[in-house]
Amino acid sequence: MVEVAVDAAAGHGPGRLALADLAASVGAGDLLTDPAAMEAYRRDWAKDPDVGMPCAVLRARSPEQVVEAMRWATRTRTPVVPRGAGSGLSGGSSAVAGALTISLDRMRAVEVDVATRTARVEPGALNVEVKRAAAGHGLWYPPDPSSFEICSIGGNLATNAGGLCCVKYGVTTDYVLGLDVVLADGRLLRLGGPRVKDVAGLSLLKLFVGSEGTLGVITGATLRLVPAPPPAATLVASFASVADAAHSVVVIGASLRASMMELMDNAAINAVEDLRPMGLDRSAGALLIAQSDAPGEARASEVEAMARVCERHDAIELFTTDDPEEGELFCAARRAFFPAMERRGSLLLEDVGVPVPVLPGLLEGIARIAARLEVDIPVVAHAGDGNTHPIIVYDASDQVATDHARLAFGEVMALAISLGGTITGEHGVGRLKKTALPAQLGEDVMDVSRAIKAALDPLGLLNPGAVL
Ligand SMILES: Cc1cc2nc3c(=O)[nH]c(=O)nc-3n(C[C@H](O)[C@H](O)[C@H](O)COP(=O)(O)OP(=O)(O)OC[C@H]3O[C@@H](n4cnc5c(N)ncnc54)[C@H](O)[C@@H]3O)c2cc1C
Repeated sequence: MVEVAVDAAAGHGPGRLALADLAASVGAGDLLTDPAAMEAYRRDWAKDPDVGMPCAVLRARSPEQVVEAMRWATRTRTPVVPRGAGSGLSGGSSAVAGALTISLDRMRAVEVDVATRTARVEPGALNVEVKRAAAGHGLWYPPDPSSFEICSIGGNLATNAGGLCCVKYGVTTDYVLGLDVVLADGRLLRLGGPRVKDVAGLSLLKLFVGSEGTLGVITGATLRLVPAPPPAATLVASFASVADAAHSVVVIGASLRASMMELMDNAAINAVEDLRPMGLDRSAGALLIAQSDAPGEARASEVEAMARVCERHDAIELFTTDDPEEGELFCAARRAFFPAMERRGSLLLEDVGVPVPVLPGLLEGIARIAARLEVDIPVVAHAGDGNTHPIIVYDASDQVATDHARLAFGEVMALAISLGGTITGEHGVGRLKKTALPAQLGEDVMDVSRAIKAALDPLGLLNPGAVL
């Protein structure tokens, strides 16, 4: 793979004439080159301090513009960073100095086809906009990252996003039937379509899901919709310790079919209460929020069965409700975790995951790392999936604290790998976790991944510095 120069500040990147050529092909009106205007497109929510200044930001309106931009990038050997809504937590859409950022945030159309139970979606449409369009036809688009109101479908596809309901309903890849992808050389691939079954050829469609902008730019998708489930009943259980909550999760996961199972530890409960007081028990060691959307009376009995499991694991308090609005208040509290943590200091965000039976071991190990390195690591978890979000909070102006936080970041990922888990369950590798990737995948898988990247993007133009 040929390496390309990416530092405009050092005099690399495309010159004035090349940018004029780009403006002529895509339309100057959709191209930002003023640093002040480009500022909003430089960082994602990981707030990586090392982001560069792009040579330009294309706010694409059509697939044709993306095709033109990629042809230009290949001609001029200019790297490209695809960008959705910038809610990523791994620095995947961080700007690269001298590169072109292609933002898909203006391509927002959503069209529901009731006959095939699909939605044809442009990549910049927010997840919530797809959900709303589906609901307008009595249908449901299940993937529900906590960020569903602020993240785009293109970003969800590129990171294979998960969420709260995937314990029962699966993740983004389970709802993709078709993708339009522009390759590095400007070819537009149309993969799949509104067909439930289609096994013609290699499964290239799935290759692009989760590829984090390193293999192509997604310009359209056909998503599978399903009938909306009945409203959920909710259980909220508080425990003296995270271990009691985690052991309950393991037993519930093995015997019942929760539609959501989220865990918050004491620090997470308190951070959320500080942001949005709703009377959560600040003294609890952990809170488990679980739901069942089983049909009819099965819902109440499933929630009751979950409550009995929690009781057997020494739950301090149990609360159940059949009222969806009341249940949603607790889900909203859980979703407020990231915004609540943002006020606490600098953050290093993890999303390590393990097989569910190993969850208690992972949580214990994280607490040990926090104690040994003297760093705060509050945890929330999509516990039913074994997917945790330990957030390392530190004072960036203190060098010792910063060093300890970085050590903890690496140790938490190493711990997950040692337990047969993953360094990232849903946020993606991006730029922040890529040094840990070979330890999880091993050299053979890394080699094959690099070979695929080289076949599709021989000049290494797409999202340089991310993932591989
Ligand atoms: C408060 C909060 C809660 C969150 N909760 C969850 C959660 O529960 N589950 C979860 O999975 N994530 C969660 N996230 C992370 C984030 O929202 C997801 O990773 C989301 O999928 C990113 O979408 P985006 O549009 O913001 O993408 P961006 O941040 O813009 O980009 C993410 C990656 O996708 C690539 N990309 C974006 N669009 C395209 C495209 N059209 N073609 C090719 N590549 C593209 C980028 O290059 C980058 O690598 C959360 C984030 C926040 C801030």
